[in-house]
Amino acid sequence: MAPYLDLVFDIPAKERFTYRNFSEDPSPGKGKNQAAFGKRAMAPFGKRELLGYIVAERAEAPPGMEPRAIREIRRVVDAEPVFGEEDLALAAWISGYYLCSLGEALAAMIPSGRRFMSYPSLYQEGDIAPSPPELSGEQLRALEALCAGLPESPAGSEGPKPGGSFPMFYLYGITGSGKTEVFLRAAQEYIRQGKSVIYLVPEIALTHQAAQAIASRFGPLAATVHSGMSPGARLSQWMRARRGELRIVAGPRSAVFSPLRNLGLIIIDEEHDGSYKSGNTPRYHARQTAMRRCAASGAALLMGSATPSAEAWKLMGDGLITRLNLSRRLAGGEPPKVRTVSLEGTQGCLTPELKEEILQTARMGRQTILFLNRRGFAYFYHCPACGFELTCKHCSVSLTWHKGKGRAVCHYCGYSEAPPRSCPNCGSLEAGFRGFGTEMIEEEVRRTFPGLTVRRVDADSMGKKGDLEETLGLFRSGAVDILLGTQMVAKGLNFPGVRLVGVILADTGLHLPDFRAAERTFSLLVQVAGRAGRYFPDGKVIIQTLRMGDPVIEKSAALDVEGFFRAEIAQRKTLGFPPFTRLIRFNFRSRDPERADKAAARLAALAGPLLPPGADMLGPAECPIGIIAGNHRRHLILRGPAMGPLHGAASTALIRYDKGKDSRVYVETDVDPVNLL
Ligand code: ADP
Ligand code: ZN
Ligand code: ZN
Repeated sequence: MAPYLDLVFDIPAKERFTYRNFSEDPSPGKGKNQAAFGKRAMAPFGKRELLGYIVAERAEAPPGMEPRAIREIRRVVDAEPVFGEEDLALAAWISGYYLCSLGEALAAMIPSGRRFMSYPSLYQEGDIAPSPPELSGEQLRALEALCAGLPESPAGSEGPKPGGSFPMFYLYGITGSGKTEVFLRAAQEYIRQGKSVIYLVPEIALTHQAAQAIASRFGPLAATVHSGMSPGARLSQWMRARRGELRIVAGPRSAVFSPLRNLGLIIIDEEHDGSYKSGNTPRYHARQTAMRRCAASGAALLMGSATPSAEAWKLMGDGLITRLNLSRRLAGGEPPKVRTVSLEGTQGCLTPELKEEILQTARMGRQTILFLNRRGFAYFYHCPACGFELTCKHCSVSLTWHKGKGRAVCHYCGYSEAPPRSCPNCGSLEAGFRGFGTEMIEEEVRRTFPGLTVRRVDADSMGKKGDLEETLGLFRSGAVDILLGTQMVAKGLNFPGVRLVGVILADTGLHLPDFRAAERTFSLLVQVAGRAGRYFPDGKVIIQTLRMGDPVIEKSAALDVEGFFRAEIAQRKTLGFPPFTRLIRFNFRSRDPERADKAAARLAALAGPLLPPGADMLGPAECPIGIIAGNHRRHLILRGPAMGPLHGAASTALIRYDKGKDSRVYVETDVDPVNLL
């Protein structure tokens, strides 16, 4: 038993901390687990007690450290190690790339559960998997290319090539072209050859349907993880993967860390999806992390989408990713007919064209999806007399009127207040809420079509666990005519009955001060349009807009991915934005605006002289959303042609900044930011 242990904690401190192990026989109060590399232990830290990760065992105290001054760990949490050398190497990479501490990286990777909890498997002994469809020619060709590197494949017998090069594929197929089937077959092939597979899906898309398909194909070899699981249940799945009991793990972003043995393939479904980027430290991207895992193990990377990210699109263009095309719908559908309609001059939010199509669809006994990316009833409060706008007390954003709750609500911090009866500034009675959200659409749709059944799906209506499943189940069964909602209805849904998709207002995200606004709007519109006509060749989409003729909306309506990227990529190149440059963003938060300003200016002054050739700095500036929950927000963005040198500058600047930093300003680093608000 090693007398000393090095621990790291889920705190920003970059150091490893040495502790003394228990003496030979741990006293009763300390539990019976022995300390060892890879386990977690409770240890005194300052006046607190923290959960630490044992990253090394050591025979002697570190040089220069007085052995008697070294504190003893309190308790070992785990009976067996929860991480190994490979996981530690991945954590070290995360900490280097995303500029966080090793402890923060391990905390993001390893489920926080302390005890194992069983989780009911979707698979039941004796379940018979429905026989999969016969692959189309395109699907077969894609599958053959994907398996060409496997030893038993007829195309060749190159084994894995650890240490850098690994094959990257992109299954680029229109919505409904059967990408899922190719993913599942590829996974089967890799598993048959003794490899294991990680299957990543966007946060909310792991519907029961997808989980069920995976469970029934792979039986007890498969596990799905999702955000609704308890930490203990997640830890159990993690340990099953580690012990080699699982061969395929499906789940959102964090499933990329699954400690599967003999990793052969990582699949990233809907590669463009924003939920693959973490919103907290470490702000890792599952795609970047997957690339690193593949480089370390020689595993293949397979991404797929109908609307690739600009990054992936460029890599395909440069020939670094092999593109595999699926160009047809296979379940009897065809790409829908899309029409754009001006919303200008319409009373309410439904144009005559959209109303007519909804009626027509209902007469045919088919279903409609209505999409608007805005919650609540009315969007902002404006006074035409004095120009007053009602904003949150703690954030620099407008309050949204939620009629059902009878409150004006802040979507950023949750603050709410009773809506004013007249303008709080000048008393004008003309002041009021303008714009519309899903709640208002629901009211108008119910009023206009009293005979049709309507269900709304958004963060407000789907309060309880299981609400979403239930509503989607009702829609699938045909008991609901119109499904209405935010992004939640835009992604991944595969319903035979849907003939019509109506986009209430396509422009909501276009004006945002973020260079990805066009890309996001485009992929969202194409994805939501892709819900129509998957099983019958008469799908219709109506896109309502206040910006008739806007090129992004026109390209979306034409479902023209190539055309969109031709223009978008050219513009990114001109403006010097990713994928032509890389970014590192620093966010500063403080209760005190002056402190935030000073801190941002100080880091800028430190980073400026360190910038590598060709790099520059944007800001420091106030963030587009200047205040959230009482915190004043500033940012500074480093931009350069390559990540390596930019990293060097950023980390050196941060180290210098940390000496003498203002402890009342919180600084967060975001490498490859996807959100600049
Ligand atoms: P995507 O992920 O590309 O949007 P899906 O994987 O959801 O598309 O497939 C759309 C539909 O096509 C599904 O209902 C699926 O069962 C069906 N499908 C997939 N492959 C085939 C095939 N080879 N023959 C017939 N139907 C298929
Ligand atoms: Zn007023
Ligand atoms: Zn707020």
